[in-house]
Amino acid sequence: MTESYHYPNRMGRIILLSMEEVMGRNGVNAILKLASYPGLIENYLADNTDLGFPFSTVSHLGEMLEQVYGPHGGRGLSLRIGRACFNYGVRQYSTQLGLTQMAFRLLPLPLKLSTGARALADLFNTFTDQRVRIEEQDKKLLWHIERCPLCWERRTQEPACHLAVGLLQEALYWLSGGKVFSVEEKTCFAAGDKTCMIAIDQSPVY
Ligand SMILES: [Zn+2]
Repeated sequence: MTESYHYPNRMGRIILLSMEEVMGRNGVNAILKLASYPGLIENYLADNTDLGFPFSTVSHLGEMLEQVYGPHGGRGLSLRIGRACFNYGVRQYSTQLGLTQMAFRLLPLPLKLSTGARALADLFNTFTDQRVRIEEQDKKLLWHIERCPLCWERRTQEPACHLAVGLLQEALYWLSGGKVFSVEEKTCFAAGDKTCMIAIDQSPVY
């Protein structure tokens, strides 16, 4: 049953390439070995849309980062890996996202952010088993992950989906042409909540 939800191979590949970018190849190899995925060492998944990367693997890799580097160090790495994932992902999925079209580029910033967030949510909802719902509330965008690979079957004291926070930080930076926004995970399945909810301020910090 735990194997019934998946990311496409392409996204698994993006996660592994992003880990390699942040930690170096030896760092990724060590984590894959400790997490008991020797088959993935120097053998990342094929770049295709088959749903072959289980949520349990996504979650276990994040958990391993925290075990090896400590909660603080693991969190920092996951944030950076999330940022790298966006940069790989936006290249791989640019057609599906439609964010490079002129009509989109000409939108004013607030509309650009909400349109961009919706496009990103649609991407996950269409091509993966992850479910995302967006809500706008008091000048915030709320990114509700209603089925979340990042903390799948984990139990933690605090929200644990740092990779998603990093991914959204980078998405906002990219969408706004270089501005920085407050992005914070407020609730998390792993900590006993009903969704993983990430709150985004629609006005940049700087
Ligand atoms: Zn989560």
